[in-house]
Amino acid sequence: MEKTIFSRIIDREIPAKIIAENNDVVVIEDIAPKAPIHYLIIPKNPIRDIQSMTESDFKLANALFRMAQQLSREISGAEHFRVLINSGTGVGQSVPHLHLHFLAGKTFSDF
Ligand code: AMP
Repeated sequence: MEKTIFSRIIDREIPAKIIAENNDVVVIEDIAPKAPIHYLIIPKNPIRDIQSMTESDFKLANALFRMAQQLSREISGAEHFRVLINSGTGVGQSVPHLHLHFLAGKTFSDF
């Protein structure tokens, strides 16, 4: 299967602004930010979307939320933030590699 753009970033084949990393996830700055702070929390394991997750993948949810908390408490300076997952092209998922959007620095009035 062809590597996703996020796997290529994780493997340092293409550049990105890496904000944080641990064994399970990497965090990068979104290249087209929708808020003053817009990070992507990406599992290193290239799961396509929530529909594709298997029992063992669900353990990753822990790592994803833990990283969101760490970004809030230690890295972004944003106490308040939004997390968002697009799961499937029908709602706008453009990269077929599960990721959480971490958005902060503005009020979101559209939802
Ligand atoms: P989604 O539409 O939920 O799949 O989100 C994919 C996100 O990845 C979009 O917000 C893009 O701006 C972002 N993106 C795509 N390519 C890159 C890249 N090379 N570096 C950083 N962010 C990217």
